[in-house]
Amino acid sequence: MKWEKLRTPCYVVDEERLIHNLEILRGVQERTGCKILLAQKAFSFFYAYPLIRKYLAGTTASGLYEARLGAEEMGGETHVFSAAYREEDMDELVSLCGHIVFNSFAQLEKFGPKAVAAGVSVGLRVNPQCSTQEGHAIYDPCAPGSRLGITADQFDSEQARRLLPLVSGLHFHTLCEQNSDDLEKTLDAVEERFAKWLPQMKWINFGGGHHITRTDYDVPCLERCIRRMQEHWGAQIYLEPGEAVALNAGFLLTSVLDVVENEKKIAILDTSAACHMPDVLEMPYRPPLAGSGLPEEKPYTYRLGGPTCLAGDIIGDYSFDEPLVPGSRLTFEDMAIYSMVKNNTFNGMPLPDLIWRDRSGECTLVRRFGYEDFKTRLS
Ligand SMILES: *Cc1c(COP(=O)(O)O)cnc(C)c1O
Repeated sequence: MKWEKLRTPCYVVDEERLIHNLEILRGVQERTGCKILLAQKAFSFFYAYPLIRKYLAGTTASGLYEARLGAEEMGGETHVFSAAYREEDMDELVSLCGHIVFNSFAQLEKFGPKAVAAGVSVGLRVNPQCSTQEGHAIYDPCAPGSRLGITADQFDSEQARRLLPLVSGLHFHTLCEQNSDDLEKTLDAVEERFAKWLPQMKWINFGGGHHITRTDYDVPCLERCIRRMQEHWGAQIYLEPGEAVALNAGFLLTSVLDVVENEKKIAILDTSAACHMPDVLEMPYRPPLAGSGLPEEKPYTYRLGGPTCLAGDIIGDYSFDEPLVPGSRLTFEDMAIYSMVKNNTFNGMPLPDLIWRDRSGECTLVRRFGYEDFKTRLS
């Protein structure tokens, strides 16, 4: 199938762009000896897992389902972190995961002995209390009152001292779309607050949020950060980026259904911000759109919105060289990450097709959804 023939709406994952990112990540692993895992919560298009496995060490998961998906479809190492685990999931997690990260000493007490007995390498997520981002409190695990990560003061309890012998790794995740200068600051905080417990650690996991494959990312500084922690603590370093793996490696193709007017021209698309790109509303941000400009930059300006009943189902204001008419096709860029994994069928919206575009430009339909996919979750 050719690009022009694809039915909209559809997500297209692009092999060449994915490989571009994977080569950068493999370079970091080869030069430093660190291991990089795919954080599946950002990108779980498992059709590409066999390819990703050629470059990365495995996957990390936020719970049982992602752990199982990683183990079944990618293999390699399977790690998991959850803010709290359910008792009934633990047996399966212990059999699927080589590494399990706990978010409290209470959870370590409850499940740690079973995990260690099964040969799992147990870690603790720590909170270095070092905010390096402004504006997005919902994406800042170091924001005051955060439930994510154990603060250093809690390591001095009797319970902590009793349980620490079970622990062979520390995990922190504090960044979001950030560069390696912020990682450097975070490492200062981690070493300052947790120096007492770092010598016993076999591994340190730097979490995700490293925008490694962005063009202005400082890779040499990242590699210095990795070497510094290897040298100081003799530990295996893990990174678990989500975004960086599939950054700019996917598109969302959509068609204009209608153009209406109310003070400005508004194009209604066959895709929805609320259903197919919820981060546009949550983050919020203005997704890049091929061939478009800022409002009034080009001759024809439109507000782009979805067909749902939500008044705020607005993607943004964009301008074009030509007028939009019903049937015009638009390509939103950087739509592989935090898109498919967050889809919903609010308003009975159909789920977009999933397409793979290989290096020759040929497109393959990987999955098409229908009415049953909507219905089966509802009764
Ligand atoms: C979200 C998350 C990641 C991946 O973050 P990206 O911003 O997509 O790189 C990794 N680890 C943990 C614990 C996370 O919560």
